[in-house]
Amino acid sequence: MKTSTATVDDTVGNAETCKKYCGACPTFRNNLLKDSPPHELFCARGKSSIAEKTKTSGCYCPACEVFTKYKLVIGYFCAK
Ligand code: SF4
Ligand code: SF4
Repeated sequence: MKTSTATVDDTVGNAETCKKYCGACPTFRNNLLKDSPPHELFCARGKSSIAEKTKTSGCYCPACEVFTKYKLVIGYFCAK
């Protein structure tokens, strides 16, 4: 799932913002998502290549400025 209202731009700025939230997220850290493509910015780039093996344990997306700016919903973009 991505968003019903907007497509997120794959920009350096959005990737930097993503690091603050995905980078701190337990799902990201516990599943070592940074080691597999697309590494971050899942709301723009799509889910992780290891999404099928990813055990979700919380999502920080709703706190993220990108989430608000693009009117995203739910989160867990790495896994769904
Ligand atoms: S909404 Fe989630 S995936 Fe998208 S930039 Fe923010 S933390 Fe990253
Ligand atoms: S998309 Fe959500 S659940 Fe996945 S790593 Fe980013 S903050 Fe965590």
